[in-house]
Amino acid sequence: LALALGCSSAKQDIAQSPKKKSPIDRRVDSLMNLMTLEEKVGQMNQYNGFWNVTGPAPKDGSAAKKYEHLKKGWVGSMLNVKGVKDVKALQKIAVEETRLGIPVIFGYDVIHGYKTISPIPLAEAASWDMDAIQKSAEIAAAESAASGLNWTFAPMVDVSRDARWGRVMEGAGEDPYLNSVIAVARVKGFQGNLSEFNLAACVKHFAGYSFAEAGKDYNTVDVNRNTLHNVILPPFKAAADAGALTFMNSFNDVDGIPATGNAYLQREILKKDWNFQGFVVSDWGSMGEMVAHGYAKDLKQAAEQAANAGSDMDMESSGYVEHLAALVREGKVSEDKINDAVRRILRVKFQLGLFDNPYKYCDEAREAATVGKKEFHDGVLDVAKKSIVLLKNEKNLLPLKKQGQKIAVIGALANDKTSPLGSWRIGADDGTAVSVLEGLAKYTGNTVKYAKGADVALGNPQFVVETKINMTDKSGFDEAVATAKGSDVVIMVLGEHGLQTGEGRSRAELGLPGVQQELLETIYKANPNIVLVLTNGRPLTIPWAAQNIPAIVEAWHLGTENGHAIAQVLYGDYNPSGKLPMSFPKAVGQLPLYYNHKSTGRPGGDEPTESVFWSHYGDMQNAPVYPFGHGLSYSTFEYSNLKLSANSFGQNGHITVSVDVKNSSNIDGKEVVQLYIRDMVGSVTRPVKELKGFEMTEIKAGQTKTVTFTIDEKTIEFYTANGKWEAEAGDFKVFVGGSSVTKLQAPFSYSK
Ligand code: BGC
Repeated sequence: LALALGCSSAKQDIAQSPKKKSPIDRRVDSLMNLMTLEEKVGQMNQYNGFWNVTGPAPKDGSAAKKYEHLKKGWVGSMLNVKGVKDVKALQKIAVEETRLGIPVIFGYDVIHGYKTISPIPLAEAASWDMDAIQKSAEIAAAESAASGLNWTFAPMVDVSRDARWGRVMEGAGEDPYLNSVIAVARVKGFQGNLSEFNLAACVKHFAGYSFAEAGKDYNTVDVNRNTLHNVILPPFKAAADAGALTFMNSFNDVDGIPATGNAYLQREILKKDWNFQGFVVSDWGSMGEMVAHGYAKDLKQAAEQAANAGSDMDMESSGYVEHLAALVREGKVSEDKINDAVRRILRVKFQLGLFDNPYKYCDEAREAATVGKKEFHDGVLDVAKKSIVLLKNEKNLLPLKKQGQKIAVIGALANDKTSPLGSWRIGADDGTAVSVLEGLAKYTGNTVKYAKGADVALGNPQFVVETKINMTDKSGFDEAVATAKGSDVVIMVLGEHGLQTGEGRSRAELGLPGVQQELLETIYKANPNIVLVLTNGRPLTIPWAAQNIPAIVEAWHLGTENGHAIAQVLYGDYNPSGKLPMSFPKAVGQLPLYYNHKSTGRPGGDEPTESVFWSHYGDMQNAPVYPFGHGLSYSTFEYSNLKLSANSFGQNGHITVSVDVKNSSNIDGKEVVQLYIRDMVGSVTRPVKELKGFEMTEIKAGQTKTVTFTIDEKTIEFYTANGKWEAEAGDFKVFVGGSSVTKLQAPFSYSK
């Protein structure tokens, strides 16, 4: 074909293949006609970075083998290599030393920033601000694309209902709708128009990974088809529809079939029903894990199952590169399936422009000029402020007064410049976040009195074990008490170390780690005027604090600009507007806990009833400490006048819902107005409430705004007993308010 096209070599064919007209698929086809089976399989192989390019080329061991494979064109992608210098050196081998010169695609976990770190995704979700979230993804993409990367393993869109799971920090919380709109914002932010400032997104983990039993990472998942379609899949679908170029499957099994070997998920739903044209990468070694699952007898069988089920690229199992060509020759995997996978991978490489310029992302000058830019700091500060949630504010403690208040600050996390970076931060060095103390300095000068009180965790607890997080040293308590006494306000910064959440970091207890709870109660006795600033990566069980501490601010792990964002909120330069994307449980025993649960055969719902037969605990009410959607402001908002344009609609029709929101305070503020519905009777049982829309609205002090929403068939559709997404005729309720616990509601119906 190269000859037919008049090119002297295949390499030239690819390089010179006319930008002019040839649609990508034709270019892919011409290229595939030139490829041997081994070269095709090579495209389906992804290796972890195996060689520090500044040293000599690897001579033995697995690194040498991988190096040889790279030179043969048997490596389609690499992960965990960063920086233009390294990427360029490896790309040069792929482009100049292999027979066909097909460029490698370089992926990395750019989860919430590269060097300039944004809040963890769960925190950003609390902003409910799609522009800010998109902007944050744009910054992450611009910095990492300038550092040689082409592809991020984000967004994670796993709906997360169990705060024990360490990875709740990486997603958008418990609600399918909120996860969906955020997935779209993040895909758009990363991918933009696929210029050299963008990355291909990878939507993960397909599917069900967050439903690990008991919140223990990598644990067994048991979900039914109804939950899969109505709860787990919607954000994936939204991301696919938004044009996400790649998906990642997951470690877990779904209905007994590991996701990596799951044809129902990958072939039927994703590629057929959703018409997804990109490729699916396995999760790290997940193909090999099918052996441990007891689903494949060895790696070769796992490769066969994965290829047949539609896993297009193997991350670091070596199952494809070692066995797939043989499996094709043995007739166990059809060449058509290989062609389909390779076509998908090459298509993405073409879409990213890697064939037109394999060094598109390898510009040292751009790297130097881009990474850590001042404007990126402004961008992450903006989203950090918006991510903070004011959980409680009594005794008028907040905002703090800019003059004349004696402030004490207590807690190791107040003086921590690393923890706020949270889990996953590939290009940021330890110690590069603005600490709370540094942020406060602008307002307090050096008048602030600080005491650590107690440590949170030891050093840098990678994949921590319990003994390491159980800090017991209380020798700092006396100094902390002395510091608190005589101050007007005590800011206590407590929570989790940045690496107590994230992958492999599930926790069975969700209180404040170590002796922080004791520290809090001790200081409270000395001075109850406490503003508790929580910095953590997941909902914590803080019922005592919620009961006793007058002001509580949820500040998550906010990234590089952490201290600036917190100080601006505490001093009222930013009026908090965040809302919780996950319920805060009273106790671990309530988990999984989420607002959009089903009704049961025992009516009574969340609140106690007369009946002893309602579904409840004998020792605790069902309600969370803080519900999904909750978040206060320094303004106060009053909702009234919920109106529906009609109380029913039919096919292709709609109704409009309006509500008046009054800012009854003397401070301008922003409110996230939330719309929920309940489908009273369905062909499958339906949740008691489901978020279906929200609007962030700015309301000046004393003013009232009317906020409107539209309800149509799309709003009420779900995966029915027919196995289809459709609207069912019947009665519904609509609820509107400032959290998932709403006062205003009205009935409506839909008929066909
Ligand atoms: C994680 C993925 C991640 C991959 C590559 C896996 O362990 O589950 O989310 O993208 O590693 O780092």
